[in-house]
Amino acid sequence: MRFPPSPTDRTGFEIAVICALPLEASVIAGIFDKQYDDNVFGKTLGDTNAYSTGVVGYHNVVLVHMPNMGKVAAATAAACLRASFQGVQLALVDGICGGAPFANQPGKEILLGDVVISEGLIEYDFGRQFPDHRFSRKDTPRDNLPRPGPGIRATLAKLQTEQGRRWLHHTSSGHLDLLQQKLGDMVKYPGASNDILFKATYRHKHHGPMQCASCANSSGADVCDLAAVMSCENLGCDKEQQESSIRISRSSNPTIHFGLMASGDTVMKSGEDRDKIVTRDRVIAFEMEGAGVWELFSNVLVIKGACDYADSHKSKKWQGYAAATAAAVTKCFLETWSPGMSLKCFVFYGLF
Ligand SMILES: [Zn+2]
Ligand SMILES: [Zn+2]
Repeated sequence: MRFPPSPTDRTGFEIAVICALPLEASVIAGIFDKQYDDNVFGKTLGDTNAYSTGVVGYHNVVLVHMPNMGKVAAATAAACLRASFQGVQLALVDGICGGAPFANQPGKEILLGDVVISEGLIEYDFGRQFPDHRFSRKDTPRDNLPRPGPGIRATLAKLQTEQGRRWLHHTSSGHLDLLQQKLGDMVKYPGASNDILFKATYRHKHHGPMQCASCANSSGADVCDLAAVMSCENLGCDKEQQESSIRISRSSNPTIHFGLMASGDTVMKSGEDRDKIVTRDRVIAFEMEGAGVWELFSNVLVIKGACDYADSHKSKKWQGYAAATAAAVTKCFLETWSPGMSLKCFVFYGLF
């Protein structure tokens, strides 16, 4: 493998991958083809991030370990990154997200472990009343959103051609296999029987014989504190309440979806709110860091694997696998990305 020349200092890194969770960063570290001694590059005084540096494909890459998750933490992490690594042109936000199961994509249902690549971000904020029309827009939400820069859009367009999709599917499967060999159980496929989508109105709370007084009397989102940290199995969530009858059957490989992502500072924990936002904003996934990074970098791409359905039935079962599928696709993206992509010089080719 041909590696790029090692940077002589921190300005030699043009690509950053930002991860909120140690699990996500561990998996991204698994796609590095070579690692540098991090003590060589250091960071500026007052920078609260931690960094790992190395090579992915033909790029020198800095991996950013954030101290906390969420939009504010992401904005702080991005500001520190910019101060320490002033040559960064492309920021990839990587890890896990909540998938919007049906997401207005006929025949393209999102399953757990599928990967979502952002074509744009929409901010949502539950401090505001729903519906929240904070974005004035034209007929389609895509018109007024901050979108990735032209270099990213061109690369995404290439990956969405028939040939690009086939290459992405095939190559990301290979990268995922290698990650699974390296990282073992941490990124194991949990199995289709653990991919459970409950009806949007069915709450994650104490049910049946498990019933507690708070959950029994709750009609809306307020359930007992304990329920939030317990598994569906222990709460008695009823598998008969699945949407199974209308779901597509799962193939062994994850699907890669391109679309808008909702980015907020609060975890989306309601199937009903999820569906309202999906209908209103045409988003296909929910995450928490992209909007914060966007405040500091104009070339931002979010690549995340769906580890839940952005509803109240949270589980950690799919996190490792979803982080790995996203990392595999990230490696493909970096293999397609040319260092000159950040320059605004293109030759256009198309149908008129
Ligand atoms: Zn309860
Ligand atoms: Zn549940």
